[in-house]
Amino acid sequence: MDCIFCNVAAKSLPATIVYEDGEILAFNDIHAKAPVHILVIPKEHIRSIAHLEADHAGEIARIIYAAKRIAAARGLAGYKLIFNVGRDSGQMVDHLHLHLLGGWAKPEDREKTFSI
Ligand code: 5GP
Ligand code: ZN
Repeated sequence: MDCIFCNVAAKSLPATIVYEDGEILAFNDIHAKAPVHILVIPKEHIRSIAHLEADHAGEIARIIYAAKRIAAARGLAGYKLIFNVGRDSGQMVDHLHLHLLGGWAKPEDREKTFSI
């Protein structure tokens, strides 16, 4: 198997897994670009959003819903969800993945007032 994320899903490549169910997996990005940077993938090899078929709808919904629950569990005040699609967008790993990026602000900082 020469797909990095298929190997992560098969547990033959180590990763810090933060969520798993029968269809999807979430793990820390190895080169985090935010204080929290998690990748959520289908266990099934799908190359990108551009390669989705109608019967993948359930997996995509699970991926987005898992990202929402992980963000809530981490107490993220706000976050970005990004799918890079194709090389021109910066997609380097050809196994569909959702980037969950956040952690810049803590929830308790949101309502804080500062003396200026
Ligand atoms: P892309 O640019 O394809 O949208 O994002 C691929 C992401 O996968 C990058 O943020 C990169 O840091 C991450 N990545 C690449 N190889 C590995 C790996 O072996 N393990 C983990 N955990 N993340 C990886
Ligand atoms: Zn794969």
